[in-house]
Amino acid sequence: MHTDPRRARWSGALAAPLLVLGLLSLGACKKREPAPAPEPQSGPISPEAKTAAGQITADYLRAQIAKLSSDEFEGRGPATPGDVKARDYIVEQLKQIGFEPGGADGGWQQPFDVVGITAEMPKTWTFSKGGKKASFKWWDQYIAGSGVQTEKGAVKNAEVVFVGYGIQAPEYGWDDFKGQDLKGKVLLMLNNDPDWDPNLFAGNTRLYYGRWVYKYESAARQGAAGAIIVHTTPSAGYPFQVVQTSWSGEQVEVPAESEPRIQVKAWMTEDASRQLVKLAGQDLDKLIESAKSKDFKPVPLGITTSLNFKNELKKSQTANVYGVLKGSDPQLSNEYVILTAHHDHLGVGEPDAEGDKIYNGAMDNASGVAQVLAMGKAFKALPTPPKRSIMLLLVAAEEQGLLGSKYYATHPTIEPGKIAANINYDGGNIWGRTKDIIFVGKGKSTIDEYVEALAREQGRHVVPDQFPDRGFFYRSDQFSFAKIGVPALYLDAGTEFVDKPAEWGKQVHEEYEQKHYHQPSDEIQDSWNYDGMIEDAQLGFYVGVNVANAPAAPTWVPGDEFEAARKSALEQVQRE
Ligand SMILES: [Zn+2]
Repeated sequence: MHTDPRRARWSGALAAPLLVLGLLSLGACKKREPAPAPEPQSGPISPEAKTAAGQITADYLRAQIAKLSSDEFEGRGPATPGDVKARDYIVEQLKQIGFEPGGADGGWQQPFDVVGITAEMPKTWTFSKGGKKASFKWWDQYIAGSGVQTEKGAVKNAEVVFVGYGIQAPEYGWDDFKGQDLKGKVLLMLNNDPDWDPNLFAGNTRLYYGRWVYKYESAARQGAAGAIIVHTTPSAGYPFQVVQTSWSGEQVEVPAESEPRIQVKAWMTEDASRQLVKLAGQDLDKLIESAKSKDFKPVPLGITTSLNFKNELKKSQTANVYGVLKGSDPQLSNEYVILTAHHDHLGVGEPDAEGDKIYNGAMDNASGVAQVLAMGKAFKALPTPPKRSIMLLLVAAEEQGLLGSKYYATHPTIEPGKIAANINYDGGNIWGRTKDIIFVGKGKSTIDEYVEALAREQGRHVVPDQFPDRGFFYRSDQFSFAKIGVPALYLDAGTEFVDKPAEWGKQVHEEYEQKHYHQPSDEIQDSWNYDGMIEDAQLGFYVGVNVANAPAAPTWVPGDEFEAARKSALEQVQRE
């Protein structure tokens, strides 16, 4: 799992778990309103699937994790020699389990560039209205990153417009822009999404609309020159210091294409934002109040600003690795269930107290890759392949901000409308059997029906994400698929361990977070117990088999934030 999409690979803070919690923590949360119960789609586990699931063994998982997390692969940092070696190794494993190359060209890898951008922003940023001026200091009052992958970026004499939350969400009847022309403007926006009404934007739960990534994308869709997010600790969930540390230094992205882009992605402290709107004779609290209505209209502030900055650009290359098992139904085999796990980790970095510099990433995410490969073995062991095809996709550069899955989602080898579901593994249970399984993103799609029914057959129960406020659904690779409309499943290890006291599960999870998460000590241990990991992988396999054999693909619950993306993906397929 990655810490935050904006984090450069090697800030020391990356390893600090408290910061990780701080980054996305928002306080108490409510689940979204119950949607009409979808028709149960999943049949039981077939005897053939049960037998095939026997391919998922402790020996296989242990051997794969040991190899992938060994020092030989140097922590699998993207674009390093260790990354190349690890990918070649995974290709060999895909061949060994009997899958075909995933690329239409017969290739096993989908290469892509990773672009590193280090922006040099001016020490002060000045805004004017009439003869009056207000200037804000870099670092203390404003922070900004480049929105473009060019050597220079600029905002020229642009007008500043307050746009409330900057959200367009037809499913909630919400549009902050009201058709106003915002081309070339700098948009001042509020963080988070409306959270005072459980029927609007799922109440306190932060949806994609409430994340800063959405804000900048939304501004770009309006043709704006730049966007400034007003930082407040409650609306961000973290202090301004986190913005400072995560937005300075190198930012990494997939290469820019034809998508709209703003020149500058900025944050301003609450205090500085107050001064800025005061220059326009406005009051920030009143503007915020006015934004809390569906009738809100953008407020031009009559303030103009210019900004010039330089970027240092670096390019390197990594690749996603993929293999397929063709489905057995002449029609449905054109559709795919895609199983994902990221193969990268953090590479070689700051040494720990023992002088270990290799961030082996045994749990994060050699264990996910091992589980996906083991599931592939199980699919191959079925007497007949499932009706739909199966793709195993081991994605790259997840730790740098889901880059590999993002690249795949924007350059899919299977049309999004033909991807029935994504099942993602990031991390694994190393502590033994559990009575529960955690389903991150429960309540969003009809995949719920499969997971509930099949976990029950395993004698287990499904628990929703324990921390919906931290946005885990948006922090691993299934999110890239959800964004292009593909219903997605992300399972996480349970906490109710068989024959252990109630508190034990929470303790071991927390201990891993503190002692090993994103640290050189995330290494394979003899003490690891694979019994729970086997059951978790088997559950993903059963879901995969039943989804791949179902008459219809899963759907988002009505009104879900990703429903519109699915609709357009399906329309695209039907037009052909
Ligand atoms: Zn990670």
